[in-house]
Amino acid sequence: MQPYVLVMEDEDALATLLQYNLEKEGYRVVVAGDGEEGLVQIDERLPDLVLLDWMLPKVSGIEVCRRIRGKAETRNLPIIMLTARGEETDRVRGLDTGADDYLTKPFSMTELIARIRAVLRRIRPGLADDRINHGDIVIDRVAHRVRRAGSEVHLGPTEFRLLDHFMQHPGRVFSREQLLDAVWGSDVYVEARTVDVHVGRLRKALNVEGTANPIRTVRSAGYSLDLGG
Ligand code: CA
Repeated sequence: MQPYVLVMEDEDALATLLQYNLEKEGYRVVVAGDGEEGLVQIDERLPDLVLLDWMLPKVSGIEVCRRIRGKAETRNLPIIMLTARGEETDRVRGLDTGADDYLTKPFSMTELIARIRAVLRRIRPGLADDRINHGDIVIDRVAHRVRRAGSEVHLGPTEFRLLDHFMQHPGRVFSREQLLDAVWGSDVYVEARTVDVHVGRLRKALNVEGTANPIRTVRSAGYSLDLGG
């Protein structure tokens, strides 16, 4: 699992440096040189984390942040804001921008990598783990086993990948198209309603006696794993 980091930074030298160091750490990196391009990239493929420069051409960092937080699909997308010293740092520090963390330039790559790991661990605990827990569901990716409320759950390979994806992003809403990309791959042609069929099977399999339906249907938006915690 290679986490995907979208870097929105208009200083070429810094963007290159960030890309080089993040790729060295095993992240997949895409660089956007302005806010508008960055938002297009997010629409195309949902990143695991956004590194967002405060002062960006076309659409500012704060506006990008506001738009990310304003959409159901991206509301929980982790954002680390990058600011230059003196650039409205107090406001950023208050994090009323909706960012998860911020760094003041110049920062060390070691510091940045540590912050990225911390944010990902907090928001997506499963990203680096073989075993993910959420609510009463445990998924073991090595043994390919799933348990709910102590009972073994038997899933087909597609349902397993679907659940794995949901477990990595608890609470986040995914459209059918996003689920197709993440679970089937973007180069495979599958009809959107196929997703509904597999979500239905996954729900049924997870329907252990006495437990609540863990997958929420969000009208006209998609699905999310929601165990109320
Ligand atoms: Ca800038």
